[in-house]
Amino acid sequence: MAAAQEHCEFKTEIKKLLDIITNSLYTNREIFLRELVSNASDALDKLRFETSRGTEVKDPDLPLEITLEADDNKHVLTLKDTGIGMSRDEIVRFLGTIAHSGSEQFLENMARESKENKDASDIIGRFGVGFYSVFMVAHKVVVTSQSYRSDEKPVRWTSDGLGSYDVETLDESLPRGTTIEIHLKEDHKEYATENRIKHIIKTHSNFISFPIKMGEETV
Ligand code: ADP
Ligand code: MG
Repeated sequence: MAAAQEHCEFKTEIKKLLDIITNSLYTNREIFLRELVSNASDALDKLRFETSRGTEVKDPDLPLEITLEADDNKHVLTLKDTGIGMSRDEIVRFLGTIAHSGSEQFLENMARESKENKDASDIIGRFGVGFYSVFMVAHKVVVTSQSYRSDEKPVRWTSDGLGSYDVETLDESLPRGTTIEIHLKEDHKEYATENRIKHIIKTHSNFISFPIKMGEETV
């Protein structure tokens, strides 16, 4: 059985990717939100699929939705979904391996397009780089998740996007789904203001079929 708390190094190719993301991208940072909302929407789709084929899921009555919370004082943006969630094993595999991430595609596009002198910001804007794009704006990210399988405990994954992450199993009981707490870099604290976030959602995520809530409103 895995220890409750573990400290792990990212694989070399992920470190390279994180280095590109944090050090050579200057524009288009706002698309990190499109990537996270698209992951939340995928997770809700997967949950709906499981329910439709008769799988017993944890918290079956939870509404399928995405919730955003901006804390302008603490410079923290929080994104929550009631989707399929991740077990400890899954969170380590999905957030720690490039093969399970949109970032593999990103590196392929980078390799191809850099021959034509396109810069990384342009490529990231068009193709995205998946979950790791959050490190364009965050100095710390905390992902807390409860799988749809009732026998899985909740898990917490924390990283500063530099070279390593921590993962721990939680003893508390949490509702199904995933919460991503984004601690913004000083230069990017604008992403903890409601108006900025609403505008980005309308620009990049208006095709999402689940409700996206912020405060009392559905964005
Ligand atoms: P992609 O979406 O292209 O697979 P990402 O880097 O965006 O790549 O995400 C990596 C993986 O992490 C996803 O495939 C998914 O399995 C998992 N994941 C990310 N966000 C969530 C979420 N909110 N809920 C459940 N799983 C997630
Ligand atoms: Mg994705």
